[in-house]
Amino acid sequence: MLDQVKQIILVLSGKGGVGKSTVSTQLALTLKEKGFKVGLLDIDLCGPSVPYILNLEGQNIHQGPEGWIPVYLDKEQRLGVMSIGFLLNSRNDAVVWRGPKKTSMIKQFLEDVCWQDLDFLVIDTPPGTSDEHITVMENLRQVQHCSAVIVTTPQEVSIEDVRKEITFCRKTNIPILGIIENMSGYECPTCCHCTNIFSSGGGKSLAEIAKLPFLGTLPIDPRVGQLAGKGLPAVREIPEATTSKVFNEIVSQL
Ligand code: ADP
Repeated sequence: MLDQVKQIILVLSGKGGVGKSTVSTQLALTLKEKGFKVGLLDIDLCGPSVPYILNLEGQNIHQGPEGWIPVYLDKEQRLGVMSIGFLLNSRNDAVVWRGPKKTSMIKQFLEDVCWQDLDFLVIDTPPGTSDEHITVMENLRQVQHCSAVIVTTPQEVSIEDVRKEITFCRKTNIPILGIIENMSGYECPTCCHCTNIFSSGGGKSLAEIAKLPFLGTLPIDPRVGQLAGKGLPAVREIPEATTSKVFNEIVSQL
């Protein structure tokens, strides 16, 4: 139930594959490392990757007297996770649902999960501005302290898609915390030197044009990719990496 949550952060992206789930999970893990009580809700119905990234595949959701009980990453129950992935038999199972069924599942996820006094609920949304987003926005419009983080890559096409996300948030009155540029250059795991493979800086200039805060630049870092499937926080495992410094910085601003 969302009245048990102090602050909601929606993680949005215009396209798939830009690192939205990586950002959602690392944001949730960083908040947990800082001592907050955190929930992570994965409503990417067509590609629920959070259970895999956090090494929670095969876990089951249980129904308690007051609603669904999230799957906890740790025994202290500081990070609770809810994902459509827990309801599928395997990661390769597809969710082939029409709009109304998707809508009712998302509503259930928003209304019926027993989160128990969270400092932050991070919501990993599907890419784009689809039915799922409209349902989420309609349900969250009434909730105070709800804001969005937009993830993009430096490439032109991804930046273009972000413009649509910005318009969508503005139309639905969800404040935007800022833009994160992911996969900007390659950071060598040995010397931490960053090489710009493609263009960079697109996210920052878009933030300036749209008059939004720019939250930081995350390089491509093989160590970050390797953390997927282990459920480990970059800020603890690779504190020297730029990614960890950026997440520490973002969290200190929340
Ligand atoms: P999305 O949720 O936008 O579809 P994911 O977070 O699943 O994207 O990321 C897609 C792939 O890219 C995953 O294999 C992930 O591990 C990898 N990835 C994302 N961001 C980074 C990064 N900064 N450095 C290295 N690999 C990354």
